[in-house]
Amino acid sequence: MPVDYQAPIADMQFVLHRLIPLTKSNTLPGYEEVSDDLVNTILEEASKFAKEVLSPLNWTGDQEGCNYQDGEVKTPKGFKDAYAQYIEAGWISLAANPNFGGQGLPLTVATPVNEMWHSANMAFMLCPMLTAGAIEAIEHHAKPEQQTVYLPNLISGQWAGTMNLTEPAAGSDLSAVSTKAIPNGDHYRITGTKIFITYGEHDLTENIVHLVLARLPNAPAGVKGISLFIVPKYLVNSDGSLGQRNDVKCASIEHKLGIHASPTAVMSFGEAGGAVGYLVGEENRGLEYMFTMMNNARLAVGLEGVAVAERAYQQAAAYAKERVQGKVAQKEGKLPILHHADVQRMLMLMKTQTEAMRALAYVAAAQGDIAQKHSDETTRVSSQKRIDFLTPIVKAWSTELAIEIASLGVQVHGGMGYIEETGAAQHLRDARITTIYEGTTGIQAGDLLGRKIIRDDGQEARRLLLEIQACADECQKNSNANIQMIGTELKQSIQFLEKALNWLIKTHAHHPQATLAGAYPLLKSFGVVCGAWLLAKSALILEKDSGPDQSFASQKIASAIFYMHEVLPQVEGLVRTICAGESVVKAMNDGLADLMH
Ligand SMILES: Cc1cc2nc3c(=O)[nH]c(=O)nc-3n(C[C@H](O)[C@H](O)[C@H](O)COP(=O)(O)OP(=O)(O)OC[C@H]3O[C@@H](n4cnc5c(N)ncnc54)[C@H](O)[C@@H]3O)c2cc1C
Repeated sequence: MPVDYQAPIADMQFVLHRLIPLTKSNTLPGYEEVSDDLVNTILEEASKFAKEVLSPLNWTGDQEGCNYQDGEVKTPKGFKDAYAQYIEAGWISLAANPNFGGQGLPLTVATPVNEMWHSANMAFMLCPMLTAGAIEAIEHHAKPEQQTVYLPNLISGQWAGTMNLTEPAAGSDLSAVSTKAIPNGDHYRITGTKIFITYGEHDLTENIVHLVLARLPNAPAGVKGISLFIVPKYLVNSDGSLGQRNDVKCASIEHKLGIHASPTAVMSFGEAGGAVGYLVGEENRGLEYMFTMMNNARLAVGLEGVAVAERAYQQAAAYAKERVQGKVAQKEGKLPILHHADVQRMLMLMKTQTEAMRALAYVAAAQGDIAQKHSDETTRVSSQKRIDFLTPIVKAWSTELAIEIASLGVQVHGGMGYIEETGAAQHLRDARITTIYEGTTGIQAGDLLGRKIIRDDGQEARRLLLEIQACADECQKNSNANIQMIGTELKQSIQFLEKALNWLIKTHAHHPQATLAGAYPLLKSFGVVCGAWLLAKSALILEKDSGPDQSFASQKIASAIFYMHEVLPQVEGLVRTICAGESVVKAMNDGLADLMH
């Protein structure tokens, strides 16, 4: 049977209190009350809820899946009760606006808590995650009277939210959205079909608030002609009570590889004349509004990667401690597979890369808090640039790695990993979607290269590399030989990245296909180097002061050493691939010639 989830609180606390540290957030206006003690209490309570309520439903939910009948969707056994407990305990409102009933905590604090929910039960957590996206869109762009109707109910979790973007012909490219919105008095009539809508229909809440992208008659073609609408499942009366059923229904749900407990719906709008929709903000600015919340959604999906990787590691570690097989070199007697060097290699790859991804996701969250709340505008602007830069990396690097890590988790189990009953396979199946939704890896890589590097001539990339360089310098000055080695390896990887940046900036204008061919290797290199930077920084901190838990400190330092030997060297190869872009493009075109003709 799958093992229970234990939140990695020691590592979470280390990142929050010592690596970031949290004081970067709790000195910001509005967050003064957020003490270390308060945060520790929140983490303890959340870890109990994750372990006791959500985690036991992860595997059973996967096995049972959702049930569709006549437009209604039933979530798996236990989900409804768990959701009721989740909103009753106020978990859904942690980072939401206090003006509408939220608790107003920094993103830095909500991030580890969200990681726990995703680890414990990713399919469950998708419902609150989508609701958070709807809250953000309404809070930033809807009229005050719309906010009064929808926000308190979404923030309390009484109602859930969805994002209705995708259509059969509009996936990565939303400029092709064809759902129609016809003005009709104080509202619009929406008609069209949306596909792949997460929690588009379910039995967890009394109402579902769909945020829908649609096109007005005579709207400009492409991205500049898309508007955003609120389309509630049940219309809301003027006294706030639920009114009649809107003309939107779930036509079916998908049978899919993973996240079986999360219903992925085909939504049909306007079969009986047009669903009532209310415009959010101004006409034709819908995609722009979506992008403001998409960045947080991308960070949230990156965090899913961290969370699934952590869960897969825990599963593999527990199995490796129990399973006895083969003779271990240089040891007497029969020992668990944990003692084989190759199994240790796999477990350490899982563990260190998960720690690296966690650190980067939390650092990005901290930058988000500063970008929103800092009193000094220059600081806000520079934090915004940093989070903009890190977002595609957190999203794509963490999710691609999560798949690799979950796959290693299967490998550690041997044949039992391929059998559903251990739960190892579920993590691999669940992780697989994370590189696809909220912008595929290809889209993230193009974003990093085009918008975040080429557009500002590599300035933000170089500012980040300078910070990493300062950490490498400090490591090299340390008296501990291991820390010096960490510094030397880190410094070399920065030099490789600088070479890649110079080549990309020089080449992009005259051969964009060649640079785009290297966009993913570039994103991966930045992910790997940022991970190395934060593990190096952690090792430095703990080498100077190990804190109360010596064993934690020595394991973290070992993580950094292992990562520099086993993970960081790939940057050299990735950079060689990037700089061979012109030859790569020619080889791809020649090699796929039969397909392209
Ligand atoms: C389980 C699940 C849940 C989902 N939940 C939601 C939801 O709640 N709401 C919602 O609106 N949508 C949702 N989606 C849809 C999801 O966001 C899309 O599937 C995703 O954006 C990719 O679009 P697509 O499937 O059309 O793939 P395509 O856009 O057809 O992409 C196919 C391939 O081409 C590549 N590609 C496409 N364009 C480019 C480019 N410009 N540069 C480089 N490569 C490119 C992609 O990277 C990918 O590898 C969900 C999907 C799934 C499977």
